[in-house]
Amino acid sequence: METIRELSSKDLAKLSCSACNGCGECCVGMGDTIHLDPWDLAALTRGLGADFTDLLEEVIGLHVERGLILPHLLMREETTPGRCAFLDTENRCGIHGFRPGLCRLFPLGRNYTEQGFSYFVVEGGCDKPGKSKIRIEKWLGIPDLSSYERFTFIWHSLVRALQARLEQEPDASYVRDLNRFFLGLFYEKAYPVEDALPGKAFYEEFYKRLEQFKSL
Ligand code: SF4
Ligand code: SF4
Repeated sequence: METIRELSSKDLAKLSCSACNGCGECCVGMGDTIHLDPWDLAALTRGLGADFTDLLEEVIGLHVERGLILPHLLMREETTPGRCAFLDTENRCGIHGFRPGLCRLFPLGRNYTEQGFSYFVVEGGCDKPGKSKIRIEKWLGIPDLSSYERFTFIWHSLVRALQARLEQEPDASYVRDLNRFFLGLFYEKAYPVEDALPGKAFYEEFYKRLEQFKSL
């Protein structure tokens, strides 16, 4: 079996695609798999000048995964396969500058451990020819990447811990109340974003909310 090469943001990987003239295949038929975390929400609400409630049902959907309600990018149901709500008629991303973290990552994945995560190239993610090497940090295009990576790991750990708790929970009203609090605290309430993408003010606010969540 071929071993997956573990990569850091400083590594080079064959990602940049000269043949990417907008086939759009990576933005259709994704179902509810493009999860949105609070960083994504802060970027989207800042970029679109809208709040979470405005975006819900229009471009964001909610799904339950192992007992936890999580937001995802909506695929348009009127098309088959469903096209991302932000994919324009020329198969270009209409929100490229502030697209979510999972879209920035593609065709990379993250491999989480107890201590952190590494990147890897998803086999068959995008099989267009002519890929050239690019440093992962440049590919992601996220300012202050070390803060973002720390946030990503902490968020992933929180979600996994909550799911492990909720899928065992027999009390439906507890599950409902915890989900309501989780969504309200981490998604519905707006985050401060001082630049085009979430930065220092966002992370400070996120960690405050995390403490609040943990204290309850
Ligand atoms: S599937 Fe590959 S070539 Fe097509 S739009 Fe996505 S990244 Fe570009
Ligand atoms: S947000 Fe942009 S990159 Fe992400 S799935 Fe939609 S169109 Fe594609």
